[in-house]
Amino acid sequence: MFEKILIANRGEIALRIHRACREMGISTVAVHSTADSDAMHVRLADESVCIGPPPSVKSYLNIPAIISAGTITGADAIHPGIGFLSENADFADMVEEHGFAFIGPKPEHIALMGDKVAAKEAAKSLGIPVVPGSDGAVTDEKQAAQVAERIGYPVLIKAAAGGGGRGMKVARIQGELLEAFQMARNEAKAAFGNDQVYIEKYLSKPRHIEIQILADSHGAVVHLGERDCSLQRRHQKVLEEAPSPALNAKERERIGDIAISAMKKLGYRSAGTIEFLYENGEFYFIEMNTRLQVEHPVSEAITGIDLVREQIRVGAGLPLGFEQDEIKFLGHSIECRVNAENPETFMPCPGLVTDFHAPGGLGVRVDSAIYGGYRVPPHYDSLIAKLIVHDQTRNECLMRLRRALEEMVIQGIETSLPLHQKLIAQPDFINGDYDIHWLENWMSEDAE
Ligand code: ADP
Repeated sequence: MFEKILIANRGEIALRIHRACREMGISTVAVHSTADSDAMHVRLADESVCIGPPPSVKSYLNIPAIISAGTITGADAIHPGIGFLSENADFADMVEEHGFAFIGPKPEHIALMGDKVAAKEAAKSLGIPVVPGSDGAVTDEKQAAQVAERIGYPVLIKAAAGGGGRGMKVARIQGELLEAFQMARNEAKAAFGNDQVYIEKYLSKPRHIEIQILADSHGAVVHLGERDCSLQRRHQKVLEEAPSPALNAKERERIGDIAISAMKKLGYRSAGTIEFLYENGEFYFIEMNTRLQVEHPVSEAITGIDLVREQIRVGAGLPLGFEQDEIKFLGHSIECRVNAENPETFMPCPGLVTDFHAPGGLGVRVDSAIYGGYRVPPHYDSLIAKLIVHDQTRNECLMRLRRALEEMVIQGIETSLPLHQKLIAQPDFINGDYDIHWLENWMSEDAE
């Protein structure tokens, strides 16, 4: 097992990884920018190294500085966390070339899933159902019209290099196709420097359902069930739950089996998430994230499995210590993402946290790196806390969530806590009756 792990990240996720390491008797090295000298991940780590000034490109994305920090401190492995360099295949390669273990998938799988057209082709060949659409990229208007005719309107034009929902345009009827095609290409060119696009059938009321998988380097793969992440604003997840209120046990088993068989064929290693749109009982692959995800705690809550500990174990070459039929799914879990932002305009709201009180009690977990007197820096993602609750049934889980939200206090800055309080009182949410458009529709009605 590793003796020392460098955590190439910040905030709550750096703390999350630190905690798993300490519980395994592994020492930790924190890296930080000059804006994060007082951060909790730095305070709790055994050692810390300053890797640059506040902008991420100069610190948390600064590969030579991170590798040097690993060398100076004598770390055996590097955990990339979430965001930043976690899906950068070159970084994973370099980490391994410099003699560290990379706690994540093989670099070639990161590269494969990072290219959306190649990922979809790979998914198809691995037996994963995909959204009907073009075979690969669509290069001209005539081809676009032929594809749209074949799959039927409405269609969605998507950037091959896409991310964060950019470069995506809907054409509801044939008359809208040319303009949508041009706009998607222009937007893709501007955002990613690559105007390659592909076409998919546009699903009108899907849910976002994703499967958590875990694999070792000896060919064993398990799944930890699904997460429903349909509550989104501008393609950003706001609240996630497991299991999904929309799936039955048979569907869960079917999609879980498909995910396992695909990952076995691929020879995948470490944790990963296969994301699907789900409509009328059918699953359609949209992408695979080759890393840990923000919402991983809801899967941990219902399975009792520490995903980061397992990532570290399989990263050290150990076999998974359990089989699929040993994983017991218990109860229901919901996560609220708490951001430092105005709950109505969603403008980021960094600044001084004058007071922080985390709720507690049975089945309540708060993953956060803030404390009273902490200044949220303006340079990074606005996620400052995750509130995760777990209980036996969905109804009990909702009651517990309501109680925990009442107890939680963050003062000095604006946060999305009031949004969550309002959201969980909505009848559609209480009934589990929502799709990926529900949250935005509700917010625009609410604003009127
Ligand atoms: P990105 O990498 O830009 O996030 P994704 O392919 O993951 O792109 O899609 C982002 C979101 O866009 C999905 O969560 C879903 O809300 C929507 N979306 C993607 N593909 C489709 C589709 N074929 N039909 C309807 N909505 C879609």
